[in-house]
Amino acid sequence: MEFQPIIDDIAAVLAAERGAGRVASYIPALARVDPAQFGIALCTGDGRVCAAGDADVPFSIQSISKLFSLALAMRHVGDALWQRIGREPSGNPFNSLVQLEWEQGVPRNPFINAGAIAVADRLVSACPDARATLLAMVGSLCGEAVAFDEEVAASEAATGFRNIALANFMRSFGKIDNDVDTVLDLYFHQCSVAMSCVQLARATAFLCRDGAHPLDGSTVVTERQARRLNALMLTCGTYDAAGEFAFRIGLPCKSGVGGGIVAVVPDRLSLCVWSPGLDQTGNSLLGMRALEMFAARTGLSVF
Ligand code: GLN
Repeated sequence: MEFQPIIDDIAAVLAAERGAGRVASYIPALARVDPAQFGIALCTGDGRVCAAGDADVPFSIQSISKLFSLALAMRHVGDALWQRIGREPSGNPFNSLVQLEWEQGVPRNPFINAGAIAVADRLVSACPDARATLLAMVGSLCGEAVAFDEEVAASEAATGFRNIALANFMRSFGKIDNDVDTVLDLYFHQCSVAMSCVQLARATAFLCRDGAHPLDGSTVVTERQARRLNALMLTCGTYDAAGEFAFRIGLPCKSGVGGGIVAVVPDRLSLCVWSPGLDQTGNSLLGMRALEMFAARTGLSVF
């Protein structure tokens, strides 16, 4: 299939709607992002990249980082990870505290904030320098160095009262082993990584290659782990909109409040769309529209 004309057309159709939605405003670095930007990029399993719009502009990957930290934790911790983290959709906003008390400090899944903080705790235990290990893994996957945005990381820490509460709450149930500040430092930094659509499409291509590294073919995660990552993206990757995403798009997706969404067509390609304007569930409004158009025009969906 020829993908370039399809994504060119999606970018052209959505040009009229650039600026729709509300840019995340909880930290200045996100609030000042130009809402009129839109990018789309895809990477096929055999490494061909197509891009349109602002596909080379770096943006804050935010919760898309939860995908990389989970892959790394699967690699280092294996199945023991699931003693501390569930695999069910939460049906609640990504930063919700309510379920955590009923469920004794065990987060519903690794893609809500509580779950990602629990994953970060496992990584702090498993890696002597988890921040550097995570950054190196993401850089290796996309074939270019990537970096933390220290301004974003500092703002996340200064305003992350809910995340601080979630971490302390889990610690009170004995579900966090490490110093809460150390765990949150990793979490806030992973959220701050800046990447473009092209870089993210490349970096997530292991998910459409049964876990094989997009550039050197080495094992990033096993085939079974890659399948599980895709399953978790489908059921939990877009928070309380996961049902709507499955209904309208039918692909495993992971979103972030920076306006990026990564989607995977297993065994075919990985895709990243970005537009900073969000809907009320914290997912990119035009990003979701673009993915819906892509699935409709290509017939690619897991269903
Ligand atoms: N940094 C944000 C937070 O921790 C990430 C949330 C997101 O992208 N959904 O709340």
